[in-house]
Amino acid sequence: MIYQRSSALFSEAQKVIPGGVNSPVRAFKAVGGDPVFVERAKGAYLYTEDGTTLIDYINSWGPMILGHAFDPVVKAVQEKAEKGTSFGMPTAIETEIASLAVSMVPGIEKIRFVNSGTEACMSAIRLARGYTGKDKIIKFAGCYHGHSDSFLIQAGSGAVTFGSPNSPGVTQGTAKDTLLADYNNLADVKRLIEANPGEIAAIILEPVAGNMGCIPPAEGFLEGLRQLCDDHNILLIFDEVMTGFRLAKGGVQELKGVTADIVTFGKVIGGGLPVGAFAANSKIMDYLAPVGPVYQAGTLSGNPLAMAAGLTMLTHLNTHSKVFLSLAEKTAYLHEGLAKVLTQHGVTHSINRLGSMISVHFAKDEVIDFKTAAAGNNDTFNKFFHGMLNEGIYIAPSAFESWFLTDALSYRDLDKTIDAVGQVAKVL
Ligand SMILES: *Cc1c(COP(=O)(O)O)cnc(C)c1O
Repeated sequence: MIYQRSSALFSEAQKVIPGGVNSPVRAFKAVGGDPVFVERAKGAYLYTEDGTTLIDYINSWGPMILGHAFDPVVKAVQEKAEKGTSFGMPTAIETEIASLAVSMVPGIEKIRFVNSGTEACMSAIRLARGYTGKDKIIKFAGCYHGHSDSFLIQAGSGAVTFGSPNSPGVTQGTAKDTLLADYNNLADVKRLIEANPGEIAAIILEPVAGNMGCIPPAEGFLEGLRQLCDDHNILLIFDEVMTGFRLAKGGVQELKGVTADIVTFGKVIGGGLPVGAFAANSKIMDYLAPVGPVYQAGTLSGNPLAMAAGLTMLTHLNTHSKVFLSLAEKTAYLHEGLAKVLTQHGVTHSINRLGSMISVHFAKDEVIDFKTAAAGNNDTFNKFFHGMLNEGIYIAPSAFESWFLTDALSYRDLDKTIDAVGQVAKVL
């Protein structure tokens, strides 16, 4: 057995960590078997505790857009660490990264840094509620906005992978303020707004969904939401934790030309360290303490190591904006290659892609929302996952996750991946 050491490490982990993992998506519960333990990573490759090398299509679920252990980021963190790792006092680097983010992203004037995407989204809806004086929010089935209570209603990602999209522990009082709509369905949103007149504070969504596979917004969907929000005095929140600084410098707002009222970030913005952020115009952001009445805080928020990693990452993306084009081209190449070999082998599939996000669904119909994503064949996916792992390719152990490409991938890596799919497709 190749992954003997990983299995032994997993047994030890399970004794002291629930399920042996600190985030459920890392477990192989959905696909079967034990998770692989990673020892180190560089560029596009993972080096496992078992001595194997894997081409990585998770990239820490998004942050490593320029590859693992990207030299400038490593150097920036090392240099900062020597000067002290946390102060709980303001530092100049926080203003530096804030100014850069504000210059890269359309429509925002101020930004506050937190420690995760969960915190960013949780704080964004509190701010929206405080600002509008209304309680209810609309979210979409299959969208994931972190694990705070209000969002664990028909959530995507690990929540749906493990069969608990509505988590126990969320009170009915909280759940009743989260209204649920179908992705890409404006009529559904209109229905909810009409049924709850004057009560909706915000509509939150992944403007390109990535937690039920990758699902791009239908033509006019984002524009329609913008209009509905304007008409009904509702704040539009784009959760760009996955898409921000990945699909374009300015995220989906730039790509699609639709502006949100509040935008949330995570993943890429931290360059691989724990960072989240939320941003808006000054009027909305100044509703936050210490200027305004909405409270939000964090002992380690704006942590110097995290800011050094994030600043280095954003600076690199800002000065090398060809990266986004290069990533999109690599992803398109992969898309074409995968579609070709899967079709050759008669495997029923549907591939969604936008920029450097791509997902393979073993479904015959186009995947446009949670229902169509859930119609995919999970048995086929599980075989596919393990087959790919055997071939040295690491994709997310769930049919509901996007693949995240890194610019460190070479065309040789992509060809190897396509060949691997060809091998695996024979047994699907
Ligand atoms: C990952 C993710 C989150 C949660 O971020 P964490 O850092 O895991 O808390 C929120 N929203 C979206 C769209 C995400 O992909």
